Amino acid sequence: MTGLKQYANLIGGEWVPATANQRLETRNPADAREIVASYPLGGTAEAEAALAAARDAFPAWAGMTAVARGRVLSKASQILDARKTELATLLTREEGKTLAEATGEVQRAVDIFRFFGGLSYTWGGQTLPHDLPGNLLFTRREPLGVVALITPWNFPIAIPAWKLAPALLCGNTVVLKPASPAPAMAMELGAALVEAGLPKGVLNLVVGEGRTVGETLANSPTVVALSFTGSAGVGQKIHEQLARRMARSQMEMGGKNPTIVLADADLDLAVSLVIRAGFGLTGQACTATSRVIVERGVLPAFTEKLVAKAAALKVGNGLAPGVDMGPAVSEGQLASNLVYVQGAVAQGARLLFGGRRLNDGDRAHGWFMEPTVLGNVSPTMTIACEEVFGPVIAVLAAEDFDDALRIANGVEFGLSASLVTRDLKKAMLYADRIEAGVVKINQISTGLALQAPFGGVKRSSTDSFKEQGAGAVEFYSRLKTVYLDYSA
Ligand code: NAD
Repeated sequence: MTGLKQYANLIGGEWVPATANQRLETRNPADAREIVASYPLGGTAEAEAALAAARDAFPAWAGMTAVARGRVLSKASQILDARKTELATLLTREEGKTLAEATGEVQRAVDIFRFFGGLSYTWGGQTLPHDLPGNLLFTRREPLGVVALITPWNFPIAIPAWKLAPALLCGNTVVLKPASPAPAMAMELGAALVEAGLPKGVLNLVVGEGRTVGETLANSPTVVALSFTGSAGVGQKIHEQLARRMARSQMEMGGKNPTIVLADADLDLAVSLVIRAGFGLTGQACTATSRVIVERGVLPAFTEKLVAKAAALKVGNGLAPGVDMGPAVSEGQLASNLVYVQGAVAQGARLLFGGRRLNDGDRAHGWFMEPTVLGNVSPTMTIACEEVFGPVIAVLAAEDFDDALRIANGVEFGLSASLVTRDLKKAMLYADRIEAGVVKINQISTGLALQAPFGGVKRSSTDSFKEQGAGAVEFYSRLKTVYLDYSA
């Protein structure tokens, strides 16, 4: 599928152009000559109009039963499912990940809406035993009001889906601001919900910059709760803005995720897990493995196998058959990745593979780079501490399990953490002691079950509410406690 897609913002049930008449164009990261989509660039005026529409739509949507709201979500799931191939292709063209990765992500959005549609039958409160006879004590789950969602570009349909579905199920109305490098999937999600019968104003979509649209949402007294996924710096700022007016805040941010490889591990398994978790999605996943911490005894054998596998990966346009890894999302992201690699080498890391831009042949107009492996990395180097968000793996040596754990916990982030071992005791000790929201044993650090809670600790998250799973409704609703005395 080719051709320029034209989008408008969704405000109060209408698809509207921006008042300032400015447009945002997205380009294909695999060939930046191709314009993929064009959007009206919203600003403060659009954000405020969207908030007003959401406020007006709230009473009627909140007044519907959860089951009726759930029907809309289930119907949206079916609509997305029917358009899966078309949406996945568009996702690849705008964000760059391979078609297989994009198809998996669209499927995730389909499943999330199906899950929360079904969950609508369980939405409610709890009956509790009262101390006295003839008394009923129960909780009711209620919506919050107008909720703002601010999302990143790297999972442009899955993340909007995993925030939107529980927000809507709970009876909130929403203003969603997608990230500017890849807004198409959020707009398509909106279109599917409109087609599924979502009432006007319940979901509003505004494309625009963080410092205009994002800031307006973060500072508006209309917004009673804001869920954000993105970088740690922006998340911290928004959290502070919300705290001032004591609005509810859910900030899910970056990671510096370790995979520990112990001496008893199946090294072929370890290498294949690290390759998938480090270079899959071009390393542009918050849960990507960016540090591999290897027991010294197996370090040479592990590193040799890792480099051989990295060298065999095919980098190219994600729509081309056989491609393992697509481009970086943008020229800026590519440049930042390469600067991190150069900085690591300057600090004493050894470039074991990669480190260069790829701009030969079909790759001449895209933001491609080699999958990169750095050795001789010490825990204090920048490359071992900061999130790169690209296909760059730093390999660190550890003396033993305890040393590996200490290194793994020695960063400010705590999102996902993997361990490769055959030792069940060490696996359980790892689950006990690792400072991370998600622990994977003999599995890739990326990849989540939609029915399970997800979120980080330390600087990866505000760590107050989890996303995903049935518990996602906690952030988007409140409990009211009712005491009823019928004894008299
Ligand atoms: P980003 O922080 O640059 O942007 C995220 C969103 O915030 C975008 O929509 C952006 O426009 C908006 N924004 C920017 N400045 C703003 C401001 N001042 N006020 C309000 N909104 C503002 O992040 P990104 O580059 O889009 O995404 C990559 C980051 O997201 C990485 O750090 C990655 O680890 C993180 N991420 C985390 C998770 C998770 O679940 N923990 C998942 C995916 C991505």
